[in-house]
Amino acid sequence: MKSHQLKLYNTLSRKKENFQAINPPFVGLYVCGPTVYGDAHLGHARPAVTFDTVNRYLTHLGYRVRYVRNITDVGHLTGDADEGEDKIAKKAKLEQLEPMEIAQQYTDSYHRDMALLNTWKPNIEPRATGHIPEQIALVEAILKEGLAYEINGSVYFDTLKYNEKTPYGRLSGRVIDELMSGSRDLDGQSEKRNPVDFALWKNAAPEHLMKWDSPWGVGFPGWHLECTAMSSKYLGTQFDIHGGGMDLMFPHHECEIAQGNACNHKDPVNYWMHNNMITINGQKMGKSLGNFITLQELFNGDHKLLVQAYSPMTIRYFMLTAHYRSTLDFSNDALKAAQKGYKKLINGLRIAKMLEYQSADLEVEDKQVEQIENSITNAYRAMDDDFNTAQAIGHLFNLLKKINSMYTGQLHSATLSEQTFNKLISTFITFVEDILGLMEEKSDSQNRMINLLLQLYSEAKTARDYAKVDEIRAGLKDLGFVVKDMKDKIDWAYEE
Ligand code: ZN
Repeated sequence: MKSHQLKLYNTLSRKKENFQAINPPFVGLYVCGPTVYGDAHLGHARPAVTFDTVNRYLTHLGYRVRYVRNITDVGHLTGDADEGEDKIAKKAKLEQLEPMEIAQQYTDSYHRDMALLNTWKPNIEPRATGHIPEQIALVEAILKEGLAYEINGSVYFDTLKYNEKTPYGRLSGRVIDELMSGSRDLDGQSEKRNPVDFALWKNAAPEHLMKWDSPWGVGFPGWHLECTAMSSKYLGTQFDIHGGGMDLMFPHHECEIAQGNACNHKDPVNYWMHNNMITINGQKMGKSLGNFITLQELFNGDHKLLVQAYSPMTIRYFMLTAHYRSTLDFSNDALKAAQKGYKKLINGLRIAKMLEYQSADLEVEDKQVEQIENSITNAYRAMDDDFNTAQAIGHLFNLLKKINSMYTGQLHSATLSEQTFNKLISTFITFVEDILGLMEEKSDSQNRMINLLLQLYSEAKTARDYAKVDEIRAGLKDLGFVVKDMKDKIDWAYEE
C-alpha cells in the first residue's frame, strides 16, 4: 500500500479524520443508489462521480474496496413521514406496466448513463426487493430489543425510547425536542406514537402493488431499513465508509444509524461522507421549477435551458473541478469553460502518450525537476486532503505546461533527466485516466479517419494545392479538430 495518510471529512464528527480501515487492505464502501422510477438526472450524477473517484483513489492507494451501491425498487414513498404512494408503483400505474418493468427499465438506463460517465460498476449492486427476508429479520431484531412497536400490521421504530440510551440526531445535528415540536401530524390520523418515529414495515392496502407476507401481515419494508439490511449483509455490522448526497442525511442516514445501533449496539459506519448539492443557474433543481435536466438531455443538448450538448466527460470533468463538499452551479457558461478545460487535459493526455524521452548531451535543470516534483507531490496532497479533486486538477495543469513545452520543442526532455521525465508522464496519465476517470471520447475508427485526412492534407500541401489544404482544414475545424502544422510534422488537437 502507498504510504499516504488520507484524511477525510466525517460528517458524523464534523471534522477531517485520518482514514484508518477496519481491516486493511480491505475497505467497505456503501453508497445509496437510485430509486429507479425515472431517468437519471444531474442529482444522480454527482454522488456517482464523487464516490467513483473515492473508490478509484482508494484503489490507487492499494486498498481493496468492496463498493456496494443498492437499487431502491420498493418502499421509497412520495410523501415524507411514511405517507404517500410508492414511487415505482405510482409510475407503473401511470404507464400501465408491472412495477418490476419500471424498475428494470430505469435500472438499465441508469447503468447506461453511469457507464457514459465512466464510473466503475459497484462490486455488489443489491436490490431492495431481493432482500425482503433480511429486512424482516432486522425488524424482528429491533422488536426484540424493545425499540419498535407493531400497530395495525405496521412496525415503527420507537425513536424516543431509543433516544433515552443513544442520542438520535447526531449525524444531522438535529435535537429530538425540536423534531418533536417541529413535526406536524398532517391529518391527526397517524398511528405512530410519536411523529419522530419512522416505519420499519408498512401494512399494505389490498390495492397496493408490491407486497410480501410477514409476521405482521402483508406489507412492504420501510425505505431506511433497506440500506441497513443490504449494507450489513455485504459489509458487516460495522463498516468503513457510507456515502450519499447531503439530502439523504436526514432522515434516511440518521435512521440507518439508529437501526444499526438498535440491533448491534454499535455505530454501523466509521466515516460518513456526503456530497453537496447542485444548482442550476443558482436555483435548486426541481420539476416544478422547469429546470429539471436529465443526463440524456444534457448529453444531447435537448433542454430549453441548454444552448448546446455537453458530453459525459465534460460533465464528469466539471463535477471534479469543484470539491465534493461545495455546491456546484450548472450554467452554460460554466459548462462551456469545463468543456475547454477537459479538452486541454485530453490534448495533454494524447501528447503525454506520444512523447518519448530523447537523450542528449544537456545539463539537467534542477529548477525544472523541482517544479515537476512539487506539482506531483501537491497533486497527491490534494487528493489526500479529503479528495480535493479541484486542487489536484490545478496541479495537473502545471504538469501539462511542461508536457506541452516538450511537445512544442521549448523544453528538451534531457534537461529533466530520464527519471523525472518518466515520472512526469506516468503521473499525469495515471491521474487523468485512473484517478479522475477521464478519457478521450473518441473511437479508434475516428482516430484512423483523422489520420487519413491528415495524410491527404500533407499530400495537398506538398502538391501546393492550397484550395484542398484549406478545405480539409476547414472541414476538420467544423468537426472540432484543429490541424497543427509543426516544424517537422503535422498533428491535430481538439479545438479548445
Ligand atoms: Zn440508503
